Amino acid sequence: MRNVVIIGSGCAGNTAAIYSARANLKPLVVSGHEAGGQLSLTTLVENFPGFPEGINGPDLVENMKKQAQNFGAEYLHGAVMDTDFSSRPFRLNIEGEWIETRTVIIASGASARWLGLENEQKLIGHGVSSCATCDGFFYRNKRIMVIGGGDSAMEEANFLTRFGRDVTVVHRREEFRASKIMLDRARHNPKIQFMTNTVVDDIYDVSKNVVTGVRLRNLKTGEAWDQEVDGFFLAIGHIPNTKIFKGQIETDADGYILSKGGARTNISGVFHAGDVQDRTYRQAITAAGAGCMAAIEVERYLEAEGH
Ligand code: NAP
Repeated sequence: MRNVVIIGSGCAGNTAAIYSARANLKPLVVSGHEAGGQLSLTTLVENFPGFPEGINGPDLVENMKKQAQNFGAEYLHGAVMDTDFSSRPFRLNIEGEWIETRTVIIASGASARWLGLENEQKLIGHGVSSCATCDGFFYRNKRIMVIGGGDSAMEEANFLTRFGRDVTVVHRREEFRASKIMLDRARHNPKIQFMTNTVVDDIYDVSKNVVTGVRLRNLKTGEAWDQEVDGFFLAIGHIPNTKIFKGQIETDADGYILSKGGARTNISGVFHAGDVQDRTYRQAITAAGAGCMAAIEVERYLEAEGH
C-alpha cells in the first residue's frame, strides 16, 4: 500500500515528489510516456527563477528528479493504463499491474495536438515536429512551415527564423488568436510569410521517410496546391492527458481537470498539479508551485486520516 502515487514526472510531478518525499511519504512517481514532461522537449529555459544564465529544460527536470530521489522518492518507468477511484484504497494499473494507494497526485500534463493526418504521424521525427526549440537546429537554411495562429505559432515562427531560409505560417482562419505583440513581431520579421484561410491536407513523402512537401488548400477559394517544405512544425495547442481518468475525475469540455479549490479534484484524496488542470499559465514555475501545493494537501489529508 502506497501513501501517494504521483502520475507524471514533469515539473509538477517532480516537485510534488520532492515535497512528499521530504514529508517521509515515500512517493512513487510513475514517469509516463513522455518522461520529464514538456521541459524535456525544450532547450534553454530563461525564466525559471534561480538560474540567472538560464538552464537547459532536460537538465532542470533531471535535477528535480535527482533531488526527489535524494529524499527517497521512487521512480517507475511506464505509464498508468487504468484507474479505479470508486473506492479506497485507490487502485492504479501500471503497465498491467494493479497497485493500491491512499492518495494520488495527477500531474500527467498536456501533450502537443496533431492535425491527425496519416502521413503526419508517420513522419514525426522525420521532418514533422511539435517542438521548434528541440528540432529547429536541424533545419539550417531549409524551408520551414509552422501551422497555427496562436502565440505558440508566432513564437515558434520567430524562433525558427534563426535557422531556416524562410518560415511560412499557415493558419486556417483570417483572424489570429495570437496576442497583438507576438503577431506584430512575426509580421515584422522579413523571413516570415503568412498563408491564411489555408489548411494542410497531406504531407509528403512517406516513401522517402522524410518531409519534402505538403498539400495545401485555401478554404475560401477551394484552390489546392503542393508546396515544397523540409521542416513541418505544429503549433496548434495542447491536449490535457486525462483520457484514462474519464468518467471518474471531473474535467471541462476540453479535458482539463476541474479544480475544486487548492489542488483538490472532485474525488477526496485525488489531487491535481500542473498543466493537466492549468490551461492559463502553463509555465514550469507555476507547475512546480502546483506540485508543491498538491504534496502539502496530500500530507494534511493523510495526517487527518491518521496515517
Ligand atoms: P492556442 O492559443 O489554443 O492556439 C492554437 C492555434 O492553433 C489556433 O490559432 C487554432 O486555430 C489553431 N488550431 C487548433 N487546432 C487546429 C487544427 N486542427 N488545424 C489547424 N489549426 C488548428 O494555443 P497556443 O498558441 O499553444 O497557446 C496556448 C496558450 O499559451 C495561450 O494562452 C497563449 O497565449 C500562451 N502562450 C504564450 C506565449 C507567450 O506569451 N510567450 C507563448 C506561447 C503560448 P483557431 O484560431 O482557428 O482556433
